[in-house]
Amino acid sequence: MSDISSEDEKAKKYTQLGKYRMPNKNNYRQHAHCNPLSKISMNYPFSPECINWSLCYPYEFSSTTTKSNSTLYLNTKTCPAPFTNEKFKPISTSNFPKNFFNLPYVSVVDVGCGYGALLENMSHDLEGGHLALGMEIRDKVTNYVGERIKGLRINTDNKEFNNISVMRCNTMKLLLNFFYKGQLSKLFFCFADPHFKRTNHRKRIINQYLLNEYSYLLKKGGRLYIITDVEELFIWERTMLNQNKSFKELTKDEIENDIFTNFMKNTNEAKKVIKSGGKMYYSIYERVESKINSLSELYDCLEYTKDEKEEDN
Ligand code: SAM
Repeated sequence: MSDISSEDEKAKKYTQLGKYRMPNKNNYRQHAHCNPLSKISMNYPFSPECINWSLCYPYEFSSTTTKSNSTLYLNTKTCPAPFTNEKFKPISTSNFPKNFFNLPYVSVVDVGCGYGALLENMSHDLEGGHLALGMEIRDKVTNYVGERIKGLRINTDNKEFNNISVMRCNTMKLLLNFFYKGQLSKLFFCFADPHFKRTNHRKRIINQYLLNEYSYLLKKGGRLYIITDVEELFIWERTMLNQNKSFKELTKDEIENDIFTNFMKNTNEAKKVIKSGGKMYYSIYERVESKINSLSELYDCLEYTKDEKEEDN
């Protein structure tokens, strides 16, 4: 299990070695709260087959052309996306391309990855061929994580950190454009924005509607992880999850025995909580069954339309 000490210490170590200069967080700070319900103003793939993942994880795919390409593909303003929308019609599909599961593929997603420590923590413990993706709504923060992963790769002679990457995305609206049904084995929600005001509860990233999407994307036996320092939010998230028949909470022992529990107790936000002596509340749920077999069935059970989800920024 990797024990990530302070990321700044790590960055310093690499710069002292005269290697790739790691990005300085201070140059990438961005106002913490983006409105996840505002109109989509970023680029996005029409459907999962429009994403060229080999550009995000060049050393995990065998193509030598992508290996020598050090460009970042993050779907941000400065690092455009690896999407091939022009080749596809905007279609909804639940079918995997042939041999999809023989390729390296994204199976772990850190929703709202912030500055990306969780991805780094888990990189050495992912199964071969399984890739982890951080998804972050803030443009500059996504650039920071992308630059950092690039630095970590270069500083290890492209031998490590090849199985993690990051993409700018509003997951509350676009997750279904990125992944196929049952593709994911782990979904992390670490220190989600609490949106305290009652009128803002619909901005919370765990709610009954979105849980249907998460259960659709997780394979049977896949796990959904939650951690927060806000007790009120924790109660909310567990209430939502306990009401949803597709999820079952693991026992205390099972939670403590999952190696990813330690990783989520060590994210950038977790470190702040530890420093201030705060308490962390966490749990893990397993995807047990899903009555939703197709995208159209999923859309039917989402009781709201895209328009209703939107509000002006
Ligand atoms: N998970 C990280 C950690 O534990 O250090 C960051 C936690 S931070 C409190 C919450 C993050 O979620 C922020 O970086 C925010 O920009 C991101 N976020 C909020 N809503 C989002 C959305 N709809 N899609 C993607 N990211 C989102």
